Amino acid sequence: MLRIEDALQLMLDHTPALPEETVALTEAVGRVLQQDALSDLDLPPFDRARMDGYAVRSADAASAPARLREIGEAAAGFAFNGHVEAGQAVRIMTGAPVPAGADAVQKIEVIQVGTDGWIELHEPVTAGQFITPRASEARHGDVAVKVGERITPATAAVLASFGHARVTVARRPRLALLSTGSELVEVHETPRDAQIRNSNTYSLAGYAARAGVEVIHTAIVRDDFDATCNAISTALQQADVVMLSGGVSMGDYDLVKPALLALGAGVLVEKVAMHPGKPTVFAKLGDKVIFGLPGNPVSVAVSFHLFARPVLLKMQGANDIHLPRWRAHVTRTVKGAPPRRSHQPASLLIRDGRAEVEPLKWSGSSDLVAFMQADALIVVPEDRASLNTGELAEVIQLPQ
Ligand code: AMP
Ligand code: MG
Repeated sequence: MLRIEDALQLMLDHTPALPEETVALTEAVGRVLQQDALSDLDLPPFDRARMDGYAVRSADAASAPARLREIGEAAAGFAFNGHVEAGQAVRIMTGAPVPAGADAVQKIEVIQVGTDGWIELHEPVTAGQFITPRASEARHGDVAVKVGERITPATAAVLASFGHARVTVARRPRLALLSTGSELVEVHETPRDAQIRNSNTYSLAGYAARAGVEVIHTAIVRDDFDATCNAISTALQQADVVMLSGGVSMGDYDLVKPALLALGAGVLVEKVAMHPGKPTVFAKLGDKVIFGLPGNPVSVAVSFHLFARPVLLKMQGANDIHLPRWRAHVTRTVKGAPPRRSHQPASLLIRDGRAEVEPLKWSGSSDLVAFMQADALIVVPEDRASLNTGELAEVIQLPQ
């Protein structure tokens, strides 16, 4: 049985990189950039007004009131091309370039505009006031977005500003999801006798999509050796990653490992010292990655977050592959599972400025209804039978 860190390292060491492709910026959110994206201009490209008002020379209006002569106008998209001389002012709108000669903007609210071409400032200005200087946000030639960054909506706005209509990103990992279990029926079916509906496909597909993955195939596979081998072979033809759930524990019908071995896959991880999720399988067949995750709905989620998510992100060359970890005070006693490290579903909150984490009331790793409320996992170290109320614990924040 491997420690969590060792199992993850082994998986990451055997994670292949996906090829790159070029996509339109509109398709790029959630993808991982494969080259540094440079700024092709200064931002802002000119000294820019931050207020509607007048562009003035600060020496002319160092004290108020100050009377100045209006000589023209600058609006967003329309520069004033003249030079502002002593005693002059230019009417200016937010976003417009500050004209040459002017070094401050005063807002319209404190200016009286006469009908005779004269204006009077009721408040003085200081040099640079209400101006965003050229290149104060980015400089031409700088790296605007680094290789390995996942493109967020805000990142896309930066890429747009620098003219990156198309971007080079990693191809999305193609994932096949196989839910093993003769007890499983589809969501639109009514379970009979010993049957239950397949739910893992839906949680895994959602988590995978949030990690930039394309789910290309899903199937339910009954607990039969040949059926398991065939389902894995078929899935491997199209997918970069095959992810099975169930069939990895010690029961008579747990056939994932024997099937993988029969197909010639190298099984690198079989068991991890964690709870829930001990039977977590990682195998390789050529460049293809195969995960055998536990069947229980909570175990499968924990195992996905701790192992599959970082592997899927690393395949895309992402810099940041781990979920955020915090420290928070537990609001109740939390049981551990020595000698395994335990992960208790919980909800994270800030109460009166203090980070607290509330363990969920759940009835074990099948309790997907309770788990729906979890946004965090409390980590109970492998050598602790429990954590005490108020104790600071490590907490993993779950993606929603
Ligand atoms: P297994 O690891 O195959 O022994 O499964 C452990 C438990 O998880 C059993 O109670 C299964 O019925 C349940 N389970 C397995 N696969 C799924 C699935 N796809 N959806 C919901 N529950 C599942
Ligand atoms: Mg099963």
